[in-house]
Amino acid sequence: MGKQARYSRQMSLPEVGAVGQSQLAGSRVLLVGGGGLGNAVIQTLTAAGVGHIRVVDGDEVAVSNLARQPLFTLNDVGRAKAHVLAEVCQRQNPDVMVEAVTEYLDKGNITAFVTGCTVVVDCSDDAGTKYLLNEYCLQQAIPLVVASLAQWSGYALLVDGAGCYSCLFPRQEAELPTCAQAGVISSLPALFGQLQSSMVLQVLLGMSGGYSGKLWHIDLRRGEAAMLNFEPDDSCPVCVSLHRRDPASLGVITLAQLDEALLKGGKLLDVRTPEERQAGHMGGEHVPFDALDEAMKGVDKQTHWLVYCHSGVRSDLAGHWMIKAGFKRVSNVIGGYAAWQMQQRKSGVD
Ligand SMILES: [Zn+2]
Repeated sequence: MGKQARYSRQMSLPEVGAVGQSQLAGSRVLLVGGGGLGNAVIQTLTAAGVGHIRVVDGDEVAVSNLARQPLFTLNDVGRAKAHVLAEVCQRQNPDVMVEAVTEYLDKGNITAFVTGCTVVVDCSDDAGTKYLLNEYCLQQAIPLVVASLAQWSGYALLVDGAGCYSCLFPRQEAELPTCAQAGVISSLPALFGQLQSSMVLQVLLGMSGGYSGKLWHIDLRRGEAAMLNFEPDDSCPVCVSLHRRDPASLGVITLAQLDEALLKGGKLLDVRTPEERQAGHMGGEHVPFDALDEAMKGVDKQTHWLVYCHSGVRSDLAGHWMIKAGFKRVSNVIGGYAAWQMQQRKSGVD
């Protein structure tokens, strides 16, 4: 009853409902950076009932943070940002588990921090972290929500395989000044943090398609907002290294076409983690994404495999891998398990 009341406005949305809310409760999000963007994102995801949030930041609260990082007070100056955020959010919503990591993310620890997370949010203010997350998340097929701010303007995008951060900002041109160097207007981080939070919630609910391949840009000084559609850049070293557009191409299949494909002998393949599988599934074989290489040896390559994951990102990458490995017919289930759950909600199953 308590939970029903807390989330009632959100749950009354047809796209959410009780199933969507429990989907949020079962999700794990990695938040990299607990500054201005991180304050806004963690506050909203906590209030929305996202079950597990891991916040990674090696920084401590400084007086100069207070003007745009409203979860911190003067009493917190000198304390680890990650700890303060965990305490504040735990008070706001005891349903949510907030895990504080008082380290900076780097090449050596990225695997440990990203493992088990459904989506990663980049709230850092340095380009090196963004490139590292971009490359790693693309390789692991984990959706990444990036934002970057300077002075009065910023941009945000969802990296889910339809092009990436490096396609838009090739490395040599993108050594942008940080907020500490360039300055930032106080209202900007919250605005972009909310945009990032919306993208995260959409990914977790399996309805992120509208954000795919779009760069949001807002300039508060000029009073302008723009949205740029982008596609994978053929010369992007990160995308090229993934061989994303193999000529023996991966098929796609919608949920509406799934029953017919199964009747014709197609087999479902779930490539999510064991934890995700245990929380619920739509049937079929289960081989976690990172075990595909070994597990699919000796499996019939003539079968029409219908590959699914949480939202269709990992399954897209898995499908490309299978085609390259000699599987004759592979289709990615668009929207994945999250879309299937949404379909169940709409058809009144819950
Ligand atoms: Zn790229």
